[in-house]
Amino acid sequence: MMQLFMPLNFLGFVYREIRVALVNIEKMFDLLVREPLVVDAPNAGPLISADAEISFENVAFQYAANRQILKEISFTIKPRQMVAVVGSSGAGKSTIVKLLLRFYDPTSGKITIGNQNLTEIAQQSLRAQIGIVPQDTVLFNDSILENVRYGNPEASDEDVLLAIQMAHLDEFIKTLPEGTSTLVGERGLKLSGGEKQRVAIARALLKRPPIMIFDEATSSLDSKSERAILSAIEEIASHYTSLVIAHRLSTVINADKIIVLDAGLVVESGSHEELLARQGLYAELWQAQQKNQIANDSNREIDTET
Ligand code: ATP
Repeated sequence: MMQLFMPLNFLGFVYREIRVALVNIEKMFDLLVREPLVVDAPNAGPLISADAEISFENVAFQYAANRQILKEISFTIKPRQMVAVVGSSGAGKSTIVKLLLRFYDPTSGKITIGNQNLTEIAQQSLRAQIGIVPQDTVLFNDSILENVRYGNPEASDEDVLLAIQMAHLDEFIKTLPEGTSTLVGERGLKLSGGEKQRVAIARALLKRPPIMIFDEATSSLDSKSERAILSAIEEIASHYTSLVIAHRLSTVINADKIIVLDAGLVVESGSHEELLARQGLYAELWQAQQKNQIANDSNREIDTET
């Protein structure tokens, strides 16, 4: 029996090792193919404190000559604050995320975390402190449990299950005959957009980073699931310093501060109420989205009646 057990045990060990290695390669590959590399400065050190103010000071950026994407952007995020960036498509919201993750350096101005310039921080140390719930989640044809564990390959089953619960993924899993062992299919094809986003949220939670970025984190959800996931995000966000990128303004009404971007400029900032009272671009976007929402809801009612 022991003779049989030993090789099987060894095979299990090899499988786990390969899986961890694959996850790391996938992670590396993901970053390499998506974005060009910014090289660490020779004297780059670790991020000294991630639980500190994040500041964008007069940040300008362009991907290519003659087309400025961000122009003199300035804003701060205090520790454990939730700051949202909103604005029309192409305004430069995701570019802010890419700069914070240091996939690119600003063309002028600076980004600091606790007074430490991002250009002085080793990229690995910076990214280890940031959790991201991206627009498009990459899933592997493995179980839901392992897909969540990808956020932190060292995490115990208990921690993975807790993250699943916090991301409100457990109710969906209860409906599956094989529960957390259910395979998600190639690139997660067996999951809906909203379910994939919850996996992404659970993954990010498992990493327990001091800084969280939610990039359109609720874009694939219907209004009911959106409300459920939002309350989870808001609860989670209160423990982290978070940056939320949103199209739907309804997702960020409770943010501590909302930054309104237009053509690469911060045109307004403040709380939801303050921005409504200003009757500027935010108020305009809000009214337009409210009208759309009412139209969508009544269409849905007609659909369900017929
Ligand atoms: P959306 O709401 O549609 O996601 P966004 O506000 O997040 O838009 P960004 O993705 O930041 O906007 O893009 C801002 C501008 O930069 C766009 O005009 C886009 O075409 C351009 N852009 C984005 N990525 C690149 C890139 N890698 N190379 C060149 N231009 C880019």
